[in-house]
Amino acid sequence: SGVLLWFREDLRLADNPALNAAVSSGEPVTALYVLDEETRGPRRLGGASRWWLAQSLRSLKADCDRVGLQLAIRVGKSRDVVTKAVEEAGVGRVAWNRRYAEAETKIDAELKDRLRKDGLEVESFNGRLLHEPWEVRSKSGGALKVFSPFWRAATARGEPRAPLPKPTKAKLKAGKALNGNSIDELGLEPTKPDWADGLRETWEPGEAGARKALTTFIDEGLKGYAENRDRPDLPATSRMSPHLRFGEVSPHQLWHAVEQARSEGSASARDVEKFRAELGWREFSYHLLHHFPELATKNLQERFDDFPWPTPDPAHRRAWRKGLTGYPIVDAGMRQLWTTGWIHNRVRMIVASFLIKDLLIDWRDGEDWFWDTLVDADPANNAASWQWIAGSGADAAPYFRVFNPSLQGAKFDPDGTYVRAFVPELEKLSARWIHAPWEASREALEEAGIELGKDYPKPIVDHRAARDRALAAFETLKAKG
Ligand code: FAD
Repeated sequence: SGVLLWFREDLRLADNPALNAAVSSGEPVTALYVLDEETRGPRRLGGASRWWLAQSLRSLKADCDRVGLQLAIRVGKSRDVVTKAVEEAGVGRVAWNRRYAEAETKIDAELKDRLRKDGLEVESFNGRLLHEPWEVRSKSGGALKVFSPFWRAATARGEPRAPLPKPTKAKLKAGKALNGNSIDELGLEPTKPDWADGLRETWEPGEAGARKALTTFIDEGLKGYAENRDRPDLPATSRMSPHLRFGEVSPHQLWHAVEQARSEGSASARDVEKFRAELGWREFSYHLLHHFPELATKNLQERFDDFPWPTPDPAHRRAWRKGLTGYPIVDAGMRQLWTTGWIHNRVRMIVASFLIKDLLIDWRDGEDWFWDTLVDADPANNAASWQWIAGSGADAAPYFRVFNPSLQGAKFDPDGTYVRAFVPELEKLSARWIHAPWEASREALEEAGIELGKDYPKPIVDHRAARDRALAAFETLKAKG
């Protein structure tokens, strides 16, 4: 007897339904993580995510040791590694929390079948979402393609369950220890060059880091969240996204933590509701991914398949990636991404709109760059959000909504604090010009020590002309209906 617990996108001990069930069974538990880069199908993690994963596994391993849970980390095809581990550990049961990207669900379904044929018990749980994507349905039983009705239907299902406790050493019966690889051997971290300094300075991956970040948010950001969440210059959002991505925290824990803050009087009902609705966007993205598995590569609205994307200008693409477009809010965002692996949501929208509409580069190009550079790169949220900005997605922003980067900057970063933090060339430029340095007088630029075109780029495209070009291209779709 014994249970094999397979950790995947749920790298935590608290509120972990599969672990909880394994421990409650009273049988000895052995834990496994598989780095599978061999099975064909799953999308390979991007560079920033690989860095995060290494740190998160280190933290998980230490936490497991503390409660007496044996965790082995192995490399190879999930199917083979899990089957072998089952034999070696001599267990009769396997437990895991579900994944939702199609290639992964396929692996899991096949493995489940095979293990059951071998006479094992296999149980899967929901450790990742407030509602399973198939549980929220339209009246006719299908997918919901618009957020508001989706969220109404989801919340009507009732209060998400309370978080489950973390197993204690006293409760946990240790199973047979399996040998495995050391995390250093996995090749997840950059060496030459080591570009991860900015990530190390910004984040503390792992369950304890997630808990600290949540406490900081509840103490400092939640109050006023509804009002300030669009301001990249304020520490107003939770920054829980990478922790959620790797399952170091569950949405249930967040759902209940913010309500507790409200009941203690430290947040308003409006702040709590707004924050929960953002978790709702994550649920909605997973709902879309479940119903449209090709979310990251195929336009949800087929008419967008005919969009006349010109051949991308490599100089434009490079300028966008490096944060050298000459539009300060865009450049600050892209440099925040490069140094910290994260961008504020409002700025994600601005930089995405700029790539798609000002530069007329296919949204998939941007989705791919984000996939490689974000620490929270998520198969559902990233793809759904890019399609939303492109206008090709479900419930998408209308295609004619083209963000004006300088107006957006002035509105959401009014003093230029955010731009100055990431674009030091503009540090001395006054708030009046910081979002449109090309409009500044020669004296203002001289005073700030900036020569445009030398110290900081001139705009690589003229926004107004680019907007007209984009709208003309989008008009061709309208004609097709
Ligand atoms: P908070 O405001 O504190 O929100 C709490 C949580 O709600 C987030 O951690 C996240 O899990 C969820 N959430 C918030 N906004 C959204 C949203 N619009 N869509 C889905 N979930 C949301 N989010 C990712 O987690 N991974 C991605 O790869 C990703 N790519 C994006 C790409 C683009 C072009 C855009 C416009 C948005 C993207 N987002 C992505 C959504 C959003 O920007 C981030 O979730 C958010 O900025 C994370 O910061 P936070 O944790 O402080 O958010």
